[in-house]
Amino acid sequence: EAITVQELANRMAEKGADLVKALFKMGMMVTVNQTIDQDTAELLVTEFGHNLTRVSASDVDIDTAGDVDAAETLKPRPPVVTIMGHVDHGKTSLLDALRGTDVVAGEAGGITQHIGAYQIKTKNGDLVTFLDTPGHEAFTEMRQRGANVTDIVVLVVAADDGLMPQTIEAINHTKAAGVPMIVAINKVDKPEANPQRIRERLLEHEIVVEAMSGDVQDVEVSAKNRTGLDDLIEKILLQAELMELRANPDREAEGTVIEAKLDKGKGPLATVLVNRGTLRTGDVLVVGTQSGRVRAMTDDKGRQIKEATPSMPVEVLGIGGVPHAGDTLTVVENEARAREVAAYRQELATERRTAIAPASLDTMFSALADKANVIEYPIVVKADVQGSTEAIVNALHKISNDMIKVRVLNSGVGAITESDVTLAQASGAPIVGFNVRPNAKARELIERHKVRMKYFDVIYHLTDDIRKEMAGELGPER
Ligand code: GDP
Repeated sequence: EAITVQELANRMAEKGADLVKALFKMGMMVTVNQTIDQDTAELLVTEFGHNLTRVSASDVDIDTAGDVDAAETLKPRPPVVTIMGHVDHGKTSLLDALRGTDVVAGEAGGITQHIGAYQIKTKNGDLVTFLDTPGHEAFTEMRQRGANVTDIVVLVVAADDGLMPQTIEAINHTKAAGVPMIVAINKVDKPEANPQRIRERLLEHEIVVEAMSGDVQDVEVSAKNRTGLDDLIEKILLQAELMELRANPDREAEGTVIEAKLDKGKGPLATVLVNRGTLRTGDVLVVGTQSGRVRAMTDDKGRQIKEATPSMPVEVLGIGGVPHAGDTLTVVENEARAREVAAYRQELATERRTAIAPASLDTMFSALADKANVIEYPIVVKADVQGSTEAIVNALHKISNDMIKVRVLNSGVGAITESDVTLAQASGAPIVGFNVRPNAKARELIERHKVRMKYFDVIYHLTDDIRKEMAGELGPER
């Protein structure tokens, strides 16, 4: 029986970071999202002076962390792709064009339904799933809820425009998530298109595309003229093959909510991407803090379906309330169990709302590197001018040492935006503003998510402060 550190912390009504710190003292380097075994969990519970029965009594939630499918049950599953890039570079056009390559759409005679994701079938019978809410906000928001549904990111860059702020943000978000990227150089039909210049500019962001002898696949497309699409799909499939994406289809389903809404006539509707197992009509389920039973399922072509297999997006009817994007769906044995789990989670959610931990320590420990014994200190940097940004990033890298390293998730020029905040929050990083402030929307997000903000106007004050924080986080043990 395994449990994540965060979940144990929730059950103990303690801060995740405090548990990580205690584990750290016990010689274990784990992050709040990692699982620990029963013995370690019990040790922690006693360490914190809690009663052991309290954990087992509230041990009602579904535990899927330790529930790993045996290798022989795994079958290949289609890749799930998100398209990112700067506004107007052609994300929506490309999603539409790719959708048009589906060989099923024509013959099925169905009507395109926008349910948040769609699946295409190629001439060779291969399937690819695309999330059709373009943009990194959705991507990062899902990630920050712990849902990593995207296998591959397609970065769209307009060949007549070059790398723009949101292109760079998309690159940073993708890197932070550790998701492989394929670069689609779009609008090559335009006379002023210069794909080679894009490839060169990408080098500055450590993206070396194949055409420059690197290992990031790139492809020239025109969403308008529908050229290069087969090539792009082929590259996606090649990347997917390398990743050996697999799932067990022969078990009770688990999925992730991509989108959810309240339909006036039908009630709550949720688009779910099946992660593993097969979802069937009649299945009893828990979705986030909601429970229900699958009354009907509709696919992205508006067809009623009875079964949904891994990587397939379906709109599910029959959930008791509207869940959140990023919530997990789990099929359970009966309605009593579904209601019990949903009620427990609702109770937890209320508790959590009343006791939100300050982000400070989480910041540090959620970013503990699991590979080596080096701790990473994630940070987002925004400054008023490019020269300051560069000077700050350089100075920050200099204060790294063998035990702790600064990891700049994003650095840029201009006001602190929502995207900076979601990125910082997803990685538990503070945001450092040098002569800049957040915009109104960002400010609201900062307050809502308790993201840490630090403002400076002298670079050595900034580095001094961060150095002190890093030393403090390491503690006297190191
Ligand atoms: P998004 O903001 O990234 O979703 O971009 P859109 O898909 O809305 O495209 C922005 C504009 O670029 C629209 O006017 C499209 O018609 C145009 N566009 C998109 N792809 C191409 C292309 O391949 N070639 C040309 N010439 N125009 C394109």
